[in-house]
This record gives sequence, C-alpha cells and structure tokens, in this order.
Amino acid sequence: MTRRFFIPPGNISGSRALITGSDVDHARRVLRLKEGDSIELRDGSGRVFASKIISLKADSISCEVISSRSARSEPKTKVSLLQSIPKESKMDMIIQKCTELGVSEIIPVQSERSVVRLSEEKKKSRLARWQKIAKEAAEQSGRGIIPRINAILDFNESLKLAGNFDLSVIPWEMEEKTTLKKHLNSGVASILIAVGPEGGFSKAEVDKAVEAGFRSVSLGKRILRTETAGIAALAMINYALEM
Ligand code: SAH
Repeated sequence: MTRRFFIPPGNISGSRALITGSDVDHARRVLRLKEGDSIELRDGSGRVFASKIISLKADSISCEVISSRSARSEPKTKVSLLQSIPKESKMDMIIQKCTELGVSEIIPVQSERSVVRLSEEKKKSRLARWQKIAKEAAEQSGRGIIPRINAILDFNESLKLAGNFDLSVIPWEMEEKTTLKKHLNSGVASILIAVGPEGGFSKAEVDKAVEAGFRSVSLGKRILRTETAGIAALAMINYALEM
C-alpha cells in the first residue's frame, strides 16, 4: 500500500520534496518507512507527486519526486457543511466521515439550541484538533485537498454565506414538500448545507435561513441524528452527481 502524505507546498521544489513536522515520527515509527520506499505526496492544491524516500532524519524525510498528476478523487461539486456544534466527540466523527465523502469545507456553527458553548481558548484547541482530523482523513481517503475547518461562526453570521453558493440548503426534519434530491442537477457547482444540533433548528432559524436564500429540504422519512445528517446528505449528493 502506497502511503500518502500532505506536505506544505513550500516543501516541494523541482524533483526534491521534504516531509517535516509530526508526519516524520509517524512515518518512521508507526509506518516504518525506509529508504527506497515509494510514497505519494500531496501539496493540498490537488496535485499528487509519486515519490521515493531518499533519506530519513529525526526531523525530516527527503524524497525524490518521480512524476506528478492531478488527484482523481476531488468531486466536481464543492460542498461546504455548516455544522451546528454537537456534544462531545461527535464533531470529530463528522469531520472524519465528511472528509472521506469529499466535503470541501466545514464551518462549525453555534446555533440557538447548540448545547456546547466553547471558551475562546477551547475554540482554538478544538479547531487545531479538527484540522488534524481532516488532514489524517484526507490522507487516508486519498483526497487532493485537506478540507478547511473554518473558525466557529454564529448562526446569523453563517447565513450570509448563502450568496457564495449555487445552492444553499437547510435540512429540516419537518419539511414535507421538498427533498434535497429535487435541487440536485449537474449545473450545481457549489452547495452549502446547514445541519442543526441535537435539538434541531428552531422554526425561527429555519425561517431566517429561507429568507437568506436557503431552501428547506427533507433528507428522507426518518429523523437522523445531527452526526448522521451531513454524512447522509454528502452521500446523497455523491450518488446524484458523481455516480
Ligand atoms: N431534535 C429533532 C431532530 C434534530 S436532528 C427532533 O427530534 O425532532 C438534527 C438535524 O439533522 C436537524 O436540525 C436537521 O438539520 C437534520 N435532519 C435530521 N433528520 C432530517 C430529515 N429527515 N430531513 C431533513 N433534515 C434532517
């Protein structure tokens, strides 16, 4: 199995590339990579560099780039997830699974019924942890980019983002008329999905979102948990637009 690493774009120059940071220890101790091993490097822009390890040091691994191509794994439709912050470690799972499913960006949101209120310090450490989870999931699943984890937004602020997308939807379990499927077609290049917390969105929040340009949509006949909704929506989008 070819191991995949994301490295900063500045670490690639011509046919030379350098793995630095925490990946070095992981590659040496956990993956037990050696001189001569083939690996794949990605610079996060969608390029993939087939490479070979030349030498391993305690704090860096030197590689030779053999060839490069663009990643075949990036979806044509960019999907951003506005996720109301759930309790405990559910966000970790949401980030990991949505990265595997091709999400391009995750924006954590504090909504009316969000139970979790994070201090400024906690926000910082959570963001760092979430970005690390996204990087690892992106490596594991062969993504060409690492999904960006945005700073935490307030629900009202997050609604302003609707204007930047071809389609903005707010999945709502009370929606009986429209499904996500009805809005999906190959002309949609960017989608924003707003998922509520454990307690759901209030009716007032859904109304505000619709006013801001979101379409209220159903994800099916059953009520999904907050950690299931984004994952399910991404899988539906992939089925509709990528298969
Ligand atoms: N507490 C609510 C459910 C909230 S589910 C209740 O028990 O009635 C958490 C979030 O997942 C919701 O805010 C919504 O965005 C999404 N969701 C879950 N099931 C859904 C469905 N069937 N259709 C659309 N959205 C759904």
